[in-house]
Amino acid sequence: MAMENIYVTKSYLPPREEFFKYASEIFDNCILTNEGPFSRLLAEKIRHFLNIDNFSYVTNGTVALQLALKSMNITEGDVITTPFSYVATVSSILWERCNPVFVDIECENFTINYDKIEEKITEKTQAIIPVHVFGYACNVKKIEKIAKKYNLKVIYDAAHTFGTRYGGRSLCSYGDISTLSFHATKLFHTIEGGGCIVNDRETFKKLELMKRFGHEGDNHIMLGINAKQDEFNAAMGLANLGHIDEIVAERKRISELYDSLLEGRLHRPKKQEGLEYNYAYYPVLFESEKELLAAFERLARINVYPRRYFYPSLNRLPYIDRIEQCPVAEDISSRIACLPLYVGLKDTVVRSICNVL
Ligand SMILES: *Cc1c(COP(=O)(O)O)cnc(C)c1O
Repeated sequence: MAMENIYVTKSYLPPREEFFKYASEIFDNCILTNEGPFSRLLAEKIRHFLNIDNFSYVTNGTVALQLALKSMNITEGDVITTPFSYVATVSSILWERCNPVFVDIECENFTINYDKIEEKITEKTQAIIPVHVFGYACNVKKIEKIAKKYNLKVIYDAAHTFGTRYGGRSLCSYGDISTLSFHATKLFHTIEGGGCIVNDRETFKKLELMKRFGHEGDNHIMLGINAKQDEFNAAMGLANLGHIDEIVAERKRISELYDSLLEGRLHRPKKQEGLEYNYAYYPVLFESEKELLAAFERLARINVYPRRYFYPSLNRLPYIDRIEQCPVAEDISSRIACLPLYVGLKDTVVRSICNVL
């Protein structure tokens, strides 16, 4: 069977009239950026959707992490984080001149191993940046307890959590700040985009000021940067947000189809009790890297290209100074992949993939 190339994801696009309607309004009012009506409306709708108080819409998920650090004065010292994530989690720490300290992950759901955090805390430690990887929840209670005990800030990289709920509230409502990514490959996107959910009102105001050059009119208050989002991106977000329930439902349906066809033949992360999942990814763990590579080769023959998410383990990046051993993350990274999952992926393709596997 001849098939078009199938990748791990394909960006969701709303019905084009919906986007064009917004775009046409932009042409009428000629407001292109600087927190125009659409970016304000989108921020308001996201606040409502996530049921949170303080939301700042920014240009991407990487700058969201950088603003989170800056707004809480974390400009030096150690930041504890996980080696099992996308590179932006650690590059943002390095870019802000902090020093990442890696704590290995748990084997059940690949999030940071909270039992190993305390042994890495020193007087230089400023913050912890755990990642709700693939949308699975970190142990937020235990992490909060450790943070309180040592007076550390917690920033969750919540790039995968949009729409996930945990303990009866949005998973991205935990921590001092949670950051989101609305990149085109994410479940909900604004082409490029990101956000910060900030629990403390004063920190939120500071972050909002920092994202627009640190000034209000001619009053220059603090050093800032430009992380404002524009109106066309916001328009895409507004059009997409109207379909969020369908997006999650369809991803759930496809994930369950994989579940039923694979019948537990490949290891899957374990969902926590109380997690209402968003089906952001479909990760599968092979027995070994060799098996993963062999499966990739077989899938390539039917034009299917899954992705190694996340590989390599970030403690092994060539520009990290301090080598730290993270045996669990290194092992998992070597043999995990995400299978194609997106709205529009055909059942016949899912069946072919499962046959090959
Ligand atoms: C996508 C992603 C980011 C970066 O987001 P951008 O919007 O692409 O800058 C950060 N962390 C994680 C875990 C991600 O998956």
